Amino acid sequence: MASTSKLRNVSAVESELEKSARAHRILEMEGQGDMTLGHMSVRDPEGRGFWLKRKAIGLGQVLGPSDFTLLDFDGNKLAGDGEVHNEWPIHSEILLRRPDINAIGHTHPFYGCVFSAADEELRAVALEGGYFHPTVPRYSASYDLINTKHLGVGVAEALGDTSFALFLKNHGVVFCGKSTEHATLMAIFLEKACRAQLVIKSSGVSWSWPDDEAMKSRGPQTFHQGLIDRSWRFYSEKLDWLMGSRDNEKAKGEFFAR
Ligand SMILES: [Zn+2]
Repeated sequence: MASTSKLRNVSAVESELEKSARAHRILEMEGQGDMTLGHMSVRDPEGRGFWLKRKAIGLGQVLGPSDFTLLDFDGNKLAGDGEVHNEWPIHSEILLRRPDINAIGHTHPFYGCVFSAADEELRAVALEGGYFHPTVPRYSASYDLINTKHLGVGVAEALGDTSFALFLKNHGVVFCGKSTEHATLMAIFLEKACRAQLVIKSSGVSWSWPDDEAMKSRGPQTFHQGLIDRSWRFYSEKLDWLMGSRDNEKAKGEFFAR
């Protein structure tokens, strides 16, 4: 018999929030949690503003739609019971500036935070660094939390018209996507890329990276919608298996079948 959840007419908002909740838990699983700090948002499908994870819970504790607040682009709360994260202007200003972006996150992952303090650019040490070609911009105009519209505008301008990730100097990372899936993977790939560069820089070996000409060819080969789709499914199934939220043997079989 079909489960009741399959029979329900799930609204666009509810399905976006269920997906974003899952994205938060995936990021916790992948080591991006920092106590109750960090948050993702998704543009409201009905055009009222954006849904932001509520304050005072960790990424891994975001379980569903009730863990989000709906804000307009001035930060006024339109729906939801939770408290609002102070850094909501990161989300409002990027969404206002970039119509191609529908999901945004800000976290404090270890290697991303360390690399945010560097004065050099992120390079394609391995595959993941290339996904951000030509580089990841760095916002360094202020060391404050991004808790005003003015600072949010600065962050959105630093992100520019084409990037999907940004460092907040000596603070953390911002990642974005056309979808929640895309944004989530930007966060995971950025952390891997930062770790790779910090490790090779620390190792003492001589090293280099593919130049712009080489990336013209490799870029489209390695980063595309298929990678996003398959990687999201991989992390989603890994979450289910590790968290035991599905039949464990079935999920384990699916996980190892790839
Ligand atoms: Zn922060």
